[in-house]
Amino acid sequence: MPRITADELKSRRREFVEEAGRTFDQMLGADGQNGLVTFEQREERACELGDALTQRLLEEHLAADDAADPDVEVACPICEEPMFCQAPEKVELQNRKVRTRRGTVEYERAARQCKRCRRVFFPRG
Ligand SMILES: [Zn+2]
Repeated sequence: MPRITADELKSRRREFVEEAGRTFDQMLGADGQNGLVTFEQREERACELGDALTQRLLEEHLAADDAADPDVEVACPICEEPMFCQAPEKVELQNRKVRTRRGTVEYERAARQCKRCRRVFFPRG
């Protein structure tokens, strides 16, 4: 079963579009200039706002990933041995942070431990 339903996707899209609208307002303000005068000021603001939207896009995509919260069985990324988990719905998701070219993004992953490698993994983390 996909992690995200069509309705949820629609609602997330609507929220993203609203965020993009607020981003536009933060750039243009009520008067189309918003106090930004020099090219450097405009560039700085546009890049900052664009980076925030990029981060959000990436976070949305990561959150919709099935691997974020895998089922009973998932393969170890090193030895490919199946890592079982009897009650995946009880595994607490852990917050992960990763630095990207456009800043830090946060997402949640359920940890799994490989008995053979004795290592903890965050699937596709
Ligand atoms: Zn392993």
